[in-house]
Parts: sequence; structure tokens; C-alpha cells
Amino acid sequence: MSENGKHGTILVIGGGISGLTAAIEASEAGCDVVLVEKNPYLGGQVVRTNQYFPKLCSPACGLEINFRRIRTVPGIRCMTLSEVEKITGELGRYQVTIRQNPRKVNNKCTACGACVEVCPVDRPDDINFGMSKTKAIYLPFENANPLQYVIDGSVCPDAECGKCISACLYEAIELDMAPKTVEVEVGAVIWATGWEPYDAGKIEDLGFGTTPNVITNVMMERLAATGGPTGGKIQRLSDGGKIESIAFVQCAGSRDENYLKHCSGVCCMGSLKQTRYVREQYPDAQITIFYIDIRSPGRQEDFYAEIQNDEKLELIKGKVAKVTEGNGGNLVVEAEDTLSGDRVSKEVNLVVLATGIVPTDAGVQLELGGDLQRDAHGFLTNDQHLPGLLAAGCAKRPVDVAACTRDATGVALKALQSCVGQNNG
Ligand SMILES: Cc1cc2nc3c(=O)[nH]c(=O)nc-3n(C[C@H](O)[C@H](O)[C@H](O)COP(=O)(O)OP(=O)(O)OC[C@H]3O[C@@H](n4cnc5c(N)ncnc54)[C@H](O)[C@@H]3O)c2cc1C
Repeated sequence: MSENGKHGTILVIGGGISGLTAAIEASEAGCDVVLVEKNPYLGGQVVRTNQYFPKLCSPACGLEINFRRIRTVPGIRCMTLSEVEKITGELGRYQVTIRQNPRKVNNKCTACGACVEVCPVDRPDDINFGMSKTKAIYLPFENANPLQYVIDGSVCPDAECGKCISACLYEAIELDMAPKTVEVEVGAVIWATGWEPYDAGKIEDLGFGTTPNVITNVMMERLAATGGPTGGKIQRLSDGGKIESIAFVQCAGSRDENYLKHCSGVCCMGSLKQTRYVREQYPDAQITIFYIDIRSPGRQEDFYAEIQNDEKLELIKGKVAKVTEGNGGNLVVEAEDTLSGDRVSKEVNLVVLATGIVPTDAGVQLELGGDLQRDAHGFLTNDQHLPGLLAAGCAKRPVDVAACTRDATGVALKALQSCVGQNNG
């Protein structure tokens, strides 16, 4: 135990559900924690989700508890807009260099939004996968944590107009805020760097990028969300038309030697959940799911069984070969039904590709005598060449939120043991 009564310091890279959980658990067990998140907000990919399967509750509920704990638990230094540049050192004495990028808005910000009214510059809204725009000064999303605006320096590089400064009554805008470099020494590092959606543009023949009416599963989450590009209305992106028919294409690029070999584990449940979003808005829409096999482990099987009671939902076992443009912006989905042996062709208004997830590359310069160990699909393993280098959640394998929180709790304990080992050593 150190002089301040703590077991040591743990670095957590990534402020998604896994990183938040690991940070809170490690801190409650008596460690100091430095939590580094590259985005201007905490919560990771979960903040883009409309509802959680299987209970269909808002992800905000689960996150809010963690945000409260982050604020109240002692010993967590939380750094948003920050990235780890370099880790050096040896066996449990890791020297970490962190770059904190400037928010250009200080914590006097009350999120009143007066700055947005006057900002003349638009940028694609990354939360909505570019389906809408924000101003150069923006709140990442409603109830973001921290609830503080940020300026995107890439579209407002020299901050020349300064209109936001005069509009802000609270002197919260600091256009000359500069990047900072912070050095810390830690006993263990938890990589909770999570996942990114597989690039659907790489998949041939499924129509993504050729028509706006082929979207991905992550885009569908935003389309259904009230903070999304259409205020929560699920519609064709080409013309705002209503949905009378929709197809979900499972394993779009996944379990495929040409693209992504692995199964992402969460996409089946994701699409089953999304059929509920559609049904809520369109009681009569025809919904088709094309699948190889539906993976709904454990109690999630009940949710799958419930979805099958929908009389206007058809499940077709068969990998989709082609999506082409049909009449009036519609799409034609072609597959072979492997149960009947028939070729199937469906004309629909909207296609949702259930694309898989790939591990985020943290891009950290490691000077520790070896690279991080990864499995054949690029996910980090927990069999690293030095003790105290650990991975949690989707950085390690594709899993749902419940599995992430269980995993991150266990990993926090391992990190703590690593710190205690050094302090006693
Ligand atoms: C379409 C779809 C729907 C889903 N729906 C559900 C659902 O309903 N219920 C459910 O339980 N699960 C669902 N999931 C799965 C869920 O999204 C994941 O379980 C969850 O996001 C994993 O959290 P994580 O913290 O491990 O990773 P992430 O959410 O990816 O968080 C990782 C964090 O690390 C940060 N980061 C990455 N690299 C760095 C770096 N170098 N420096 C600093 N920070 C970094 C990222 O910015 C991010 O904030 C769904 C997945 C998909 C694809």
C-alpha cells in the first residue's frame, strides 16, 4: 500500500461501459485511477444505441448510474478528449504520456446553446454517422457527459469569426486553449478501447453506398433514436418515405473469408431488437430477416421466441447474395433459402445490413519490449508479455453490455492484484 493508503494507480484507456466499470470497481477497491477517453464525452458506443436488448430500456439509465459513481467515488481522474501517446517503463512501473486535446470551452459552460445559434460552420454529426450535421461548436448529444460544449478544431482551425465568444454570457469560450501533455506512472493498464463498426463500404453486392436506402445496424440505432437525424422517425433516407417493408441482412460481411471472419456475437440480438423499433412505428410493415443462424444465447432465447410471434415477420435462413435497386427507390434482396432450396427475391423499402464489429486500434506507442498480443481477429488477449497489461470488454471480444460489465469487474480485480504485487515486491 502506498503512502496515501492506496493500492497504486491504474490507467484505464477508454471511457465506454467497460472502461467506466473497470475504473469505478478499481477505485472502490482502493486504487487511484486515470481514465482516458478520446471522445469529448463518456459512454462509448452505447450512447449511440436507442434501446438495450432484451428489456428495451434506454441505455441512458445504465450509464447514468455509472456517471454518478464516477462523480462520487474518490480517486478517479477522468480525462476526455485525451489519448495515450506513449507507454514506457518496465514490470509494473509504466510511464504514460497522455495528450489532452483542447475542448476550447471551459467548465463555466452551462450548455445553454447560445453559441450554436451564431456559429456559421457546419460539420457532419459523428454520433449520427454523418446522417445529420452539427455546428463547429456543439454538444455531442443531449445529456452528454460532461454536459459541456466542444469546438471541432478541424473545421474551425483558426477560430477566426469569434461569434461564439460574444454570444456566450458565461465567458466559457477559450479559443486559445492549447493541447496539454500529462505524464503519469501507473502499476497496471486496462485497455477498454472497445469496437468500431466494420466498414460496410468494403462489402460488395449489398448496395451500401450506392443507395441511401441501404443502411447499417448502427445507423438504424440512430434512425430510431429521438436524438437521431430524423428525430426518431424510421424512414427511407432517399425521400423520407414510410416503411411498408424492410429487410435485415444478418452477417453482412461477417463470418466471411473475404471480409470479417469472426461472428460479432451481438448483431442477431441487435436486429431482433430493431424489428421492435420498426413494429412500434409501423404495425403493418412486412419485416424479413435473412440469417445464417440466429445467435441468441441463454435467456436471450426468450426474446427471440417472443419476436417470432410477430405474424408479419418472416425469417429466411439464407445468406444474401445481392441487393440491387428496384422501382421507385426500393431495393431487391436476393438469397437462397437453404431450408427449401428455393431462390428468394424480396422487394423492400429499406435494407439494414447487420455489419460486424472490429476492435479499435488504440494507436499507442509502446516501448515495453514487445507489442500487445492479439487473437487472429485483432482483439486483445489477456496473455500479454508483461504483467498488469489487461484488456476488458469489446477490446477483448465482441460481447453485449452485461458481459462487458462482468468482464471489466474481473479485470479491475486483476489489475489491482498486479498493483498490490508491485507494492509488496
Ligand atoms: C447494432 C448494435 C446494437 C447493439 N445493441 C446492444 C444492446 O441493445 N444491448 C447490449 O447489451 N449491447 C448492445 N450492443 C453491444 C454494445 O454496443 C457493446 O457491448 C458495448 O459498446 C461495449 O462497450 P465497450 O466499453 O467495451 O466498448 P465501446 O463502447 O466501444 O467503448 C470504448 C471506448 O474507448 C474509447 N477509445 C478507443 N480508443 C481509445 C484511445 N486510443 N484512447 C482513448 N479512448 C479510446 C472509445 O472512444 C470509446 O468511448 C450492440 C452492438 C451493435 C453493433
